[in-house]
Amino acid sequence: MMAQVEWTKSGIPSKESIIDAAAAGMVSRHDDEYKEFMPDISFERAKEFLKKMIRLGHDSVLEHIVFQFWVSISRVASHQLVRHRIASYTQKSHRKERKLTLDDFVIPEQLDGKDREEWIDDIKKYIKTYEKWLEKGYAVDIARRKLPQETRTDLIMTINARSLRNFFRLRAEHVADFEIRDMALKMHMLIEKENLIFLFEDIPIE
Ligand SMILES: Cc1cc2nc3c(=O)[nH]c(=O)nc-3n(C[C@H](O)[C@H](O)[C@H](O)COP(=O)(O)OP(=O)(O)OC[C@H]3O[C@@H](n4cnc5c(N)ncnc54)[C@H](O)[C@@H]3O)c2cc1C
Repeated sequence: MMAQVEWTKSGIPSKESIIDAAAAGMVSRHDDEYKEFMPDISFERAKEFLKKMIRLGHDSVLEHIVFQFWVSISRVASHQLVRHRIASYTQKSHRKERKLTLDDFVIPEQLDGKDREEWIDDIKKYIKTYEKWLEKGYAVDIARRKLPQETRTDLIMTINARSLRNFFRLRAEHVADFEIRDMALKMHMLIEKENLIFLFEDIPIE
């Protein structure tokens, strides 16, 4: 399986946090006091207000809305992912000795039939090589250098809506590497299911 993406327990921004973000925008634009306009903001009104903020380019308001995902991808994709600096990551360490299986590698879906089998044979060789250096008595820090970039890693990603918009713009389009794009599209789908896509609907997803 390629990229896997799921919400964490508190990963979906609450309706209250959407209203709070809109209220933050209103603090900047309304003449009346926060305590006066705040109680009357419905989710629908917050949504329309935030869409207006996006149209006006008042994007910093979106930093008040935070998403969190559990992600499982290859080291190739995680290397690309962490270049997105405006997010927080906690990633599984490969410094711990583990019994590796085929599930610890991300196999490209583009491979068919015999080529897939040949690819899997290569992975088995990588596992054997990794084990060989451990058996020789070397530390995992040494042995793990033999693992290929397709080795799977799990991570937690926390990202605000403004930065996520930038991420989708760069990674959910055709020019991006197929795996990080797969990850971006899966995140996009999860957000769509929660009816929060209004925060991203102006960004072309191809
Ligand atoms: C198709 C594609 C190909 C790529 N190829 C390469 C490559 O060959 N080599 C390579 O090194 N990278 C490559 N990248 C990575 C790319 O250059 C970015 O590092 C990555 O996409 C993260 O984008 P970002 O900096 O906008 O995101 P973030 O780091 O999340 O930053 C978000 C935004 O914050 C602002 N920002 C953040 N930090 C600074 C800062 N220090 N100064 C000013 N503004 C800042 C910018 O507006 C930025 O857009 C590629 C990316 C894509 C999508």
